[in-house]
Amino acid sequence: MDRTGRCLCGAVKFTAKNTPDTFSACYCKDCQRWVGGPYHGISVPTGDLEITGREHIRVYKSSDFAERANCKNCGSALWWRLTKSKYFGKTSIPVGLLDDTSGLTLNHELFTDYKNNTNAVPDGVEGMTSGEVAKLIATFDEDKK
Ligand SMILES: [Zn+2]
Ligand SMILES: [Zn+2]
Repeated sequence: MDRTGRCLCGAVKFTAKNTPDTFSACYCKDCQRWVGGPYHGISVPTGDLEITGREHIRVYKSSDFAERANCKNCGSALWWRLTKSKYFGKTSIPVGLLDDTSGLTLNHELFTDYKNNTNAVPDGVEGMTSGEVAKLIATFDEDKK
């Protein structure tokens, strides 16, 4: 199916055609440094990726076999892509950029030996909904008075 997405500021938008219904997680230190935690990516054929706002993209050659792209304006991680190997031709996009993630399931993990105590959500962790967070943010201005 086709899936749309964008960076945080909206300068870069994309439509990915022929997306799979699975994605993978990577725990390597490069990914963790890049996105600040585990990287959850969906792999799509590069030729099926339509991108607008390319002038806002900065591509970083993160190793001799791969590149990582970010939005120059907001810093969002946009893609990870092999530049060598038989997997050349695929682009991995962070699932968090997608407007709609319905139907997607995690089916593969990489660098599992780099998984650490910060990468899992233990049972019973206290949580807040978006509505509860919004109520808290609404109190920020009152704090100044
Ligand atoms: Zn952006
Ligand atoms: Zn990685």
